[in-house]
Amino acid sequence: MEYLYWNKDVELFSREEIERIQYKRLRSMVKYCCDNVRLYNERFKKAGLNPEDIKSVKDVTKIPFTFKDDLRENYPFKMFAKPLEEIVRLHASSGTSGSPTVVGYTRNDIETWTELMARTITCPGGHRGDILQNAYGYGLFTGGLGFHYGGERIGAAVIPISGGNTSLQIKLMKDFGSTILTCTPSYSLYIAEYAKQEGVDIEKEIKLRLGIFGAEPSSETLRSKIENSLNIDAFDIYGLSEIYGPGVSVECPEKNGLHVWEDQILPEVIDKETREPVSPGEKGILLFTPLTKEGVPLLRYITNDIASLNYEKCNCNRKMVRMSKVTGRADDMLIVRGVNVYPSQIEHVLMGIPGVGENYQIVVDRDILDTLTVRVEVTQEKFSDRIKDLENFQRMIEERLFEALRVKVKIELVAPGEIPRSMGKAKRVIDLRKENI
Ligand SMILES: [Zn+2]
Repeated sequence: MEYLYWNKDVELFSREEIERIQYKRLRSMVKYCCDNVRLYNERFKKAGLNPEDIKSVKDVTKIPFTFKDDLRENYPFKMFAKPLEEIVRLHASSGTSGSPTVVGYTRNDIETWTELMARTITCPGGHRGDILQNAYGYGLFTGGLGFHYGGERIGAAVIPISGGNTSLQIKLMKDFGSTILTCTPSYSLYIAEYAKQEGVDIEKEIKLRLGIFGAEPSSETLRSKIENSLNIDAFDIYGLSEIYGPGVSVECPEKNGLHVWEDQILPEVIDKETREPVSPGEKGILLFTPLTKEGVPLLRYITNDIASLNYEKCNCNRKMVRMSKVTGRADDMLIVRGVNVYPSQIEHVLMGIPGVGENYQIVVDRDILDTLTVRVEVTQEKFSDRIKDLENFQRMIEERLFEALRVKVKIELVAPGEIPRSMGKAKRVIDLRKENI
């Protein structure tokens, strides 16, 4: 097997070299956070902790956690460690319940992120001369621009087509001879399906060789489905906007876990209940501490993603730890077409609408793309309305939910008491995708 490296010196660091640089960077990062971010200054004081108390990488466990809510509560700029004059980019995650989380990047942050993305595209096999069709969304979401900068850095020709417009995707794929496709796994399947319907001979007319997919959970079954339908090699990536965006980790050609770029990002896994570190190989909640981030530095940021870390040797010779695919969420967040959806947001919208009864049920399924259906019980009074009024009522709820979630939702109105209950409680979320992929 052939292994490519963007920054061979760093990517092939020994464990000792990785830990040496992590310690050096962690120590300055902790001091930087305490000096420049009020939240950290106060938390360290409260914990009776000084930056000097961090005497090894293992001491990271002494540092208090950072939660997504910290970012929300400090909306928009109170977690920034640099004045706005030094910020050159602002991204924000899709607003869940309440404020979105905002991330500001300094020029150095963009440079670091670009370096990580260059490694991330090279590691599965991307290189100069590739034609990279970037079908991740451009905009506040970090996927599009992350791949864009990384692709340009390695010398690929980047097509900034963004998501959607599938017939144009296929036309350019054929006419430009795209060799790499980057998007969510479900969208890649949708493209394949669409091409088939249009009568495109994928093997003859499409030159794609590589797919780099992320922003949604995926399985080995889904991977082989994509590989077969597009005739490519498919790789998983992982990232989140709070930690730059895509480019936190990626699979190498061994496809045996995702190498985390540990010289820049320190990963940990803690137990869901006790919040103590778990042993290597054991599942728990993933945390990250970016080690040189300037704009919005974060210490021990809790992702709520469930995964494990594997320090065993990899054939590609990288000693950087491999994280497993994310197997779930510690909270109840759903990822629908790459967008984060919290059942609590749906509840919040429903409960504000007169005529909505006491129970609802969220059903997520996948029919090539994810579908989100909410079954809503109406009140007895509403239930006796004319059919036409009920149809309008249904459409109004769909619009309100779309406004709140930015994802299309199908509403099914049902009679009071129709949603089955066990022990008096209705099952709120049914995710059928796991069974179907
Ligand atoms: Zn490897």
